[in-house]
Amino acid sequence: MKYETVIGLETHVELNTKSKIFCACGGHGASEEPNDCVCPACCGMPGMLPVTNKRVIELAVTAGLMLNCDISRYTTFDKKNYYYPDLPCAYQITQLNHPICTNGLVSIKSEEGNRDIRIKQIHMEEDAGKLIHEGKYSLVDFNRTSVPLIEVVTQPDFRSPQEVMNYLNKLKSMFRSGGISECENGAMRCDVNISVRPEGTEELGVRSEIKNMSSFESIEKAIYYEIQRHIDALEYDLEELVQETRRFDEKTGKTFAMRDKETAADYRYFPDPNLMPILIDDEWLEQIMANKPVAVDERIDYYRESGISEEEITVLISSQTATKLLEEVVAAGCDARETVKWILIEAVGVLRKGGKGLDDLQISAEDLSAIIKMVTESKINRNSGKAALAALIEEGISPEEYIKSAGIDRKLDSSDILAVVQKVISDNQDIVEAYKSGKTKAFQALLGACMRELKGAGNPGVIKEMLEKNL
Ligand code: ADP
Ligand code: MG
Ligand code: ZN
Repeated sequence: MKYETVIGLETHVELNTKSKIFCACGGHGASEEPNDCVCPACCGMPGMLPVTNKRVIELAVTAGLMLNCDISRYTTFDKKNYYYPDLPCAYQITQLNHPICTNGLVSIKSEEGNRDIRIKQIHMEEDAGKLIHEGKYSLVDFNRTSVPLIEVVTQPDFRSPQEVMNYLNKLKSMFRSGGISECENGAMRCDVNISVRPEGTEELGVRSEIKNMSSFESIEKAIYYEIQRHIDALEYDLEELVQETRRFDEKTGKTFAMRDKETAADYRYFPDPNLMPILIDDEWLEQIMANKPVAVDERIDYYRESGISEEEITVLISSQTATKLLEEVVAAGCDARETVKWILIEAVGVLRKGGKGLDDLQISAEDLSAIIKMVTESKINRNSGKAALAALIEEGISPEEYIKSAGIDRKLDSSDILAVVQKVISDNQDIVEAYKSGKTKAFQALLGACMRELKGAGNPGVIKEMLEKNL
C-alpha cells in the first residue's frame, strides 16, 4: 500500500527583545554567565508580579502580519501548570484561550510548485530555564526563564520532509529580516507532529510528536526516521502506534518514546489573574503596521525588479542588518544595485579581514550613502571611497572626516590643477597629437594621467574641464 505523510509543526521562536517578557532582566543571549539575568520575578519568588513587555506584543503582531494572520484585538495570558526544576514558578505563562494571532497562510515551495500552509495560530509565552547535567548533579540556569517566545502552530498541511524544510527556511528568513528573531543558537526550536495515512484517504492517522529540535539537519533526519517507523508499524504490524511524545537521539539517528501525549486538561490551564487582558486599538495596530518590515515575498520581488541577482538576494534576505541598511541607503537616493555592491563586496571585504561577517556591519545609512554619492558624483574616486568605507568600519571615522584628514578633499587651487594639466600635456605630446587627429579615446589616457599625478585629489569634473580647455 502507498502512504501519504501528514505533518504539522509547532515552532518556538525566541524574540529579539532587550528584556524578558514579564520583567526587566536581559532577554535572549544577554549573558553567558549562568544565572546572571535573573530577578525575583523571573525566578519565581513568592508574590512577585509579572508586567507585560510591550515590545513582545508588537513583535508577535508583526510576525502575525508577515504570516497573513488575523490579529486578535483582545488577547489574554493563561497559566499552564506543571512541575519541573527548570520552571521556578511551577507554571508557564502562555496563551490558550485568546492567542494573539490566528488563521494565517504562508506560501512555500514544494515538489509540486507553490503550496499554501495554513497557520492555526501564533501565541506568546515565556521560555523555561535550562538544566545542565553533570555526573551526579544537575545544575539549573534561569537566564532563559521568561525569555519571550512566540509559538507558530500550523495545520497538518505538510506532505513531505522537503516541504517542512522549505517552510522552516522561509520562516527563518522572514523572522530574521523582520527583526523578530535571529533564529540561531537555539532561538528557533521545533516540535514535529507526524502521521501517515493510506494514499487517497482523508482521515488523519495516529500522530507522534517529536519534541524540541533546533538543528534543521536533525529535524529532517527525525522526520525520515519517523515516517518509516509509522509505515513499518502499519505494514508489518510491528508495533501499535499510539499518540505519544518522542525525542530524537542525534547519536543513533532514531526517535524514542518519552511520555504519553498529555492533554490540555493535564495542565489545569486557567487565566492568569495577575495579568490584565491586552487590547490592541486601531491606533496601536496602525503604528505596528507602519513599522512592519516588507514581507519577504514582496521584498524579493522588489529586489528582482531593481536588478539584484538571485545569489545576492539570498544573502541579503537572511541578514536583517543588510536589508535594513540597503533599504535606508536606497531611500536616501542611492542606486540599489550600486548599494548592494558596496555592502556585499566592499563592506564584506573589510569585515572579513577583521574575521567578521555581514551581521557585524554597524555603519549608518547616512555615512554609507555619503560615500556612495561622493563616488557616483565623481567628487572622489572609487578607491578613495573604499578607503573611506574601511576607515568607517574599522575605526568609526566619518567619511567627511576621513576625506579631510586624508587630504583628498584638499581644495586644490585651480592653479595647482592647471600646473598638473600643463605638465601632463607637455609630457605626453604623442597622445596629445593622437587626440587632435580625432582619436577621442586618447582623452581618457590624458585624464587618467592627470588624476594619477593629483593622487585622487581634486574634483574630476573640474580636471576634465581644464584639460579640455588646454587641449
Ligand atoms: P495539541 O494541542 O494537542 O498539541 P494541536 O491540535 O494544537 O494539538 O496540534 C498540534 C500540532 O499537531 C499542529 O501543528 C497540528 O497541525 C498537528 N497535528 C494534529 N493532528 C495531526 C496528525 N494526525 N498528523 C500530523 N500532525 C497533526
Ligand atoms: Mg503540542
Ligand atoms: Zn527577571
